Amino acid sequence: MRLPLLRGLSLDELQDICVEVGLPKFRAGQVFEWVQAKGAGAWDEMKNVPAAVRDALAGVLDLSPVEVLKTQVSREDGTRKYLFRLEDGQTVETVLMLYERKVARDRATVCVSTQVGCAMGCAFCATGLGGLVRNLEAGEIVGQVLDIIRHVRQEDPEFRVTNVVFMGMGEPLQNYANLLSAINLFNSPKGQNIGMRRLTVSTCGIVPRILDLARDNPQVTLAISLHSARDEVRDRLVPMNRHYPLQELMNACRKYIEITNRRITFEYALVKGVNSGTQDARDLVRLTKDLLCNINLIPVNAVSETGLERPSEADTAEFARILSESGVEISLREEKGSDIDAACGQLRKRQGGEYLVLNGKV
Ligand code: SF4
Repeated sequence: MRLPLLRGLSLDELQDICVEVGLPKFRAGQVFEWVQAKGAGAWDEMKNVPAAVRDALAGVLDLSPVEVLKTQVSREDGTRKYLFRLEDGQTVETVLMLYERKVARDRATVCVSTQVGCAMGCAFCATGLGGLVRNLEAGEIVGQVLDIIRHVRQEDPEFRVTNVVFMGMGEPLQNYANLLSAINLFNSPKGQNIGMRRLTVSTCGIVPRILDLARDNPQVTLAISLHSARDEVRDRLVPMNRHYPLQELMNACRKYIEITNRRITFEYALVKGVNSGTQDARDLVRLTKDLLCNINLIPVNAVSETGLERPSEADTAEFARILSESGVEISLREEKGSDIDAACGQLRKRQGGEYLVLNGKV
């Protein structure tokens, strides 16, 4: 029988396990900090925890390191893409993006996966091409960040992750309970202590789960993959739109904003000849202008299997002009890792090709 993953346990759950195996509760706090704050990947790294305590917990909990199969590093901007192998041999991708800031503290953002594969089938996404394999456990989601921290701290002992985006492989809201556990673990003051607003959950628009997230109200940033303001176009780009069309989605967004008082980000990948014309921009203004939101324009990643292309710079600029002149708040996503397979699902799909491999283990 597989043991529960230590990295996915809350402090309360760990305390209960300590009590069950006859240990005092305070040992849970020590072990939790070693795992969640210091990133310990082996029991014998927990220096102030007696061997008898470690042995008792090692008999009931799993703290095995995750294997890094491949790592790609962008020579342009240092973006790192990791391909992790999970215990059952499945693989997931995780990306570390580094942003240097002149006016604010530097950011280190990790884009985590929440599922192996994905059932949503979005038109521009390599992950969706292979379908869903399984949900990740909370410990596997958190483990991606902890293992990247361990990996980078070999070169930079002060390295910290400042932001996490749930935007890698999978639809996070289809793995809701494990998503919430991971959010709470990242936010824990005894763990990485990442502020809720620095945690971004991205969804293709699963209306009942958006309403659940509003009700549970963790105060994270919600990002919705919109990509068109017209149902007939969005049906093709984001097939979930056939279940929850735009009007239903916008009603859920209004509800979410009303309950949480949080601004929603709409992701809009501009695709040549599909959703990037002047009428598309006007439709987008009409759909979003009375909402507390901003629109993140993304130059679409060229995934050869999808056949989608990005529009010209002039068309992108015209699209952005129409939005901003209408008072819609926009941002243009900084492109990261364009010289590596940094788009969702690309590295996993091409596993077996030629890569810059840094390390086998973290
Ligand atoms: S974009 Fe996200 S939700 Fe859509 S298929 Fe890819 S991983 Fe799934």
